[in-house]
Formats: sequence, C-alpha cells, structure tokens
Amino acid sequence: AHLDRIAEVDGDVHAFLQVDRDGALAQAAESDARRSRGEARGPLDGVPIAVKDVLATRGLATTCGSKILEGWVPPYDATVVQRLRVAGLPILGKTNMDEFAMGSSTEHSAYGPTHNPWDLDRIPGGSGGGSAASVAAYEAPLAIGTDTGGSIRQPGAVTGTVGVKPTYGGVSRYGLVALANSLDQAGPVSRTVLDAAMLHDVIGGHDLRDSTSIKQDWPSFTEAATQGASGDLAGLKVGVITEMQGDGWQPGVMARFTESVELMVKAGAEVVEVSCPSFVHALAAYYLILPAEASSNLAKFDAMRYGLRVTPDGDPSAEEVMRATRDAGFGDEVKRRIILGTYALSSGYYDAYYGQAQKIRTLISRDFDAAFERVDVLVSPTAPTTAFRLGEKLDDPIAMYLNDLATIPANLAGVPGISVPNGLDDEDSLPTGLQVLAPALADDRVYRVGAALE
Ligand code: GLN
Repeated sequence: AHLDRIAEVDGDVHAFLQVDRDGALAQAAESDARRSRGEARGPLDGVPIAVKDVLATRGLATTCGSKILEGWVPPYDATVVQRLRVAGLPILGKTNMDEFAMGSSTEHSAYGPTHNPWDLDRIPGGSGGGSAASVAAYEAPLAIGTDTGGSIRQPGAVTGTVGVKPTYGGVSRYGLVALANSLDQAGPVSRTVLDAAMLHDVIGGHDLRDSTSIKQDWPSFTEAATQGASGDLAGLKVGVITEMQGDGWQPGVMARFTESVELMVKAGAEVVEVSCPSFVHALAAYYLILPAEASSNLAKFDAMRYGLRVTPDGDPSAEEVMRATRDAGFGDEVKRRIILGTYALSSGYYDAYYGQAQKIRTLISRDFDAAFERVDVLVSPTAPTTAFRLGEKLDDPIAMYLNDLATIPANLAGVPGISVPNGLDDEDSLPTGLQVLAPALADDRVYRVGAALE
C-alpha cells in the first residue's frame, strides 16, 4: 500500500531519491512469513520505513543529496539501518535531503527540492525534508532523520509530523555520513509520539562501533509514551524559554504555542518562564562549529575514494582532478561552508572564531544545567515560522539559518528534544510545532510529555 501511495504522489512531493520496491517487498514477504509462524521480531516487524539518504545502506546507493556521491553504493549498513533490518522493518527507500544535511528547506539537494504535502509550493523544512514529507504524505508510516541543528525537528514542525532528536550518543552514528560529528544524531520521524518511541527503542542503545555511543541501559520509550498518553501533567515543572519568543516569531505560531502552554497548566503542570541568556549566541556559535567540522569531514571527497571523478582534458595532476571534481560535485551551500570552516580553523584565526564559539557552547550547556535545576522540561515553538514558499530564502543564507534558532541549542548541548504537531496557524492554515527539551539522558521525559501534549 505504501509503495502504491509513493507511485501515486511522489511525482509531486519528491520525498524519495530512490525507492527500493523489490527489496521492500522481499523484506515484507519475509516478515509475513515470520509472523504467520508466530515468530515476529517485535512490534514493528513488517512496518515499512523510509531512510534519509545520509545513512549508509548496503547495496543501495547513498548520495547525501550530493552529486559528489552519485553512484556510490555502500558495502555496509549504518548501525541504525542494521537495527531496522534485524527488527524486520522493510526499507522503502532513501529520502531527499539538503546536500550533506546543510539547509532548512531541502532546496539545497542536488536532485531538486522536496515539496511540502500541505502545499506543494512550500518547503518541507530541512535538511530532512524528504523523511518528514514521506511521513506527512502517507508514503511511509515511519522514517529516519538526522538532526545536527534541527533537521528532524524543524521539518517535523512544518509538515505536521513528530520528530525526535535523541540525547547525543543515544543512537549510533556508525554509518551516518558525518556533517558535524559533535552535533549529529539520528532519530525517529513519525505521525504519533508512540510511533516515534517504538522506533527509538529499535534504533537506540550502545554500539561498540561508535566511540561516542553512551553505554547504559535505557528505559523503554514505548512505555514512557504510553504513560504520557493519559495527558496528566500533575507535578511537572515546565520552563518557557524567554529568548524564544518576541520579534521574528510568526504571530500565528506564537498563538498556538501560548494556547498549548495554557493547556499544560490545565493538565496540572506548573509553568514558569526561564531565561537562557546565552541562547541568543547559539546560532552564531553553531555556524562556526558546524562549518569547521564539516570542512574537515568533507575533505575525504577527493575524487579518489568515493563517487564522482571529473578528469580535466590533457594530462591533469591529482590536484587538478581533485579540484575539478570538488568544483563540479559540491553545491553552493556546501562550498560556502567549506570556505567558512577552513577559514575559522586556520592558524591565527582559530582562537578568534572556533575557540570563541566553543566557549559559547559551554555557556549554553550551563544555561541548560541551570534551567534544569528549576524545571523538568523546557518548551518553545520548534520553528519561528510555518513553511515558507520554495525559493523565498534561497538567496539569503542568513534568513535560511534563522529557521534553526530554537533547535540549535539542544545540539550544542547534546540534550534530547521532540517536536510535536501543535495545530495550524490561523492565518495560513499550515502546521506549527511545539518543542520539548529535556536534560541529557532523559529522553523518556520528551516521550512522556510529548505524548501528553498530542
Ligand atoms: N539547518 C541546519 C543547517 O543547515 C541544520 C542541519 C541539520 O540539522 N542537519 O546546518
């Protein structure tokens, strides 16, 4: 049914870069056989899923939305993908994304943009717009995204889907093509909080192949979401972040947010306003740390090891081949960040830029620590606006970066966050999102509170 739905609507939505019809049907048939023998591998055995094209899939091309990886077929599965296979989830295909996960609209994909199923002239958020749109358009019941600065939560908000960024280290990064190693986290995209929790239970947990993977027993997120579904918030202390409201926040987004805060009070929560003063510097710090890490990560695309190779005429040197390949293979946004990052890391500038940004990162973590001494969770709108029109911010990188205002602090501090659908903006009738942030390791809390708010 999902493959049929993809055939029906994906010509318009373009959520997928690749659909693995045969593979998905074969996995589904195996799952059917298991279930008829009473040997299901868990509650999601047989439930199809879409995977963002930044995760390595054995035998299935993985492009990261870039021409430079065109034709690269990974010889191995990312740990997340392997866990999906073990749990019996048929993989429908790979979803569209901003090139190397840089962007907030999926317009930076080298393979054309994804369209928001709510209004095809609008963006589905980014970088994981394909994953969010596939779920919003009923092409897939579940998807995997990755969130470095908001790429699961912001697309969730603007497509009316649920998106979760787990605690840094909660989900293995092995086989996730790195954008910024210290920020990247894979996580669930779904239509309900319970679905996301069930998926998190499948993909999460320690992995020997990721040295930043946290070694501990995690509680059942399925249970946390189930408990939360009662809607009772008695005893919960909620902090509304002062710095995430006011100028620049769309009135219709704020209206829905304020209503939800009032509903939390009705459900028994105690709500206070909490100031996190360093958050106003988060965006600036992020856009130094991320390009710095990305410029280093992307150095490996050198025309020798993966994908594309452009050989200029004559008898080119290795360096000329490398230059021609990188020039043709990378898009403008990627080049912009490589230049920014290389500059920020160069000797003489390192302390002034990267060093300062790392200090701000520490201050942001301290703001979170202080806030979580007072409250159990922090809430804000997930994104400052609803989905904007395709092309609207494409020529204005700063305007594009501002979409991540509310989501970036969680990545810099490594804390978990969820975006849950929060009703439609009265003006444009488009989805808005509510973000719930919790202390590191307390991912169960975002599921409990998220499910209560649904
Ligand atoms: N939009 C942010 C960026 O462009 C976030 C990206 C992400 O989370 N992958 O960097």
